[in-house]
Amino acid sequence: MSKLSRNDACWCGSGIKYKKCHMDQDERLETLALQGIPIPDRTMIKTEEQIQGIAAACQLSKKILDIVSEKIGPGVRTIDIDQWVYDYTVMHGAYPAPLNYRGYPRSTCTSINEVVCHGIPDETPLLEGDIVNVDVTTILDGYYGDMSRMFLIGDVSPEARHLVKVAWECMHIGIEQVKPFNRIGDIGYSIEQHARRHNYSTVQDFGGHGVGLEFHEDPFVQHFGVRESGMVLVPNMVFTIEPMINQGTHRVKTLADGWTTVTADGKLTAQWEHTVRVTNNGVEILTA
Ligand SMILES: [Zn+2]
Repeated sequence: MSKLSRNDACWCGSGIKYKKCHMDQDERLETLALQGIPIPDRTMIKTEEQIQGIAAACQLSKKILDIVSEKIGPGVRTIDIDQWVYDYTVMHGAYPAPLNYRGYPRSTCTSINEVVCHGIPDETPLLEGDIVNVDVTTILDGYYGDMSRMFLIGDVSPEARHLVKVAWECMHIGIEQVKPFNRIGDIGYSIEQHARRHNYSTVQDFGGHGVGLEFHEDPFVQHFGVRESGMVLVPNMVFTIEPMINQGTHRVKTLADGWTTVTADGKLTAQWEHTVRVTNNGVEILTA
């Protein structure tokens, strides 16, 4: 990478001189890189224009889940949810990112009870007592916004309700770790600690990811791990935090359809997801 002079326009496209824009941050990152610490490359740092586009896509994903929350209940089939998501998405000039993604056949993922993620909507009606995750990613004007929520169907057991609550807390505890010069490992560590306090486990085979210009970008965001490890966070990185929290083992298996992933022991699992942006002093939840 060619070295910019202090008075050159910054590489980020802000139009501001490098010395008044990203120069200090770059110098700090270079020092960390020399210590062997992984640093983000510039493609992971979004421009203000990109942030605005991603934020709009995120807000549409949130609105879609708001619609789902109004209509979901016992007897609804997951394929009905998929249709609502598709219709609302295209009605707003957007496109559902999962549809035809690597051959995936639907517009959303609906993961019921022991399904960890990537459940494919079908004719199955939701039953009283089910817990279900609905995962929505919207492409609006070329930008991606990714979000998922849990829904309790009718009267749910106290055990299932507790798992869903702790999974929500895990997501927010992870989000609280997001600020400049914290590390990705800080997110995973805090999530796993909270899950463990409740004797739950954290799925390791799937995690959060960079998002915005593509569906899945670097970095990978683990939901377990070691404090002060992994990549350094800097402002305008955008990624998801989406812990999958299990009642039993953290181990998972993927079924013959190549998508549906379930807990290896058949026990319950729960997941919540937000897309977040690192700000100059903390975090902004773009899907809030
Ligand atoms: Zn800059």
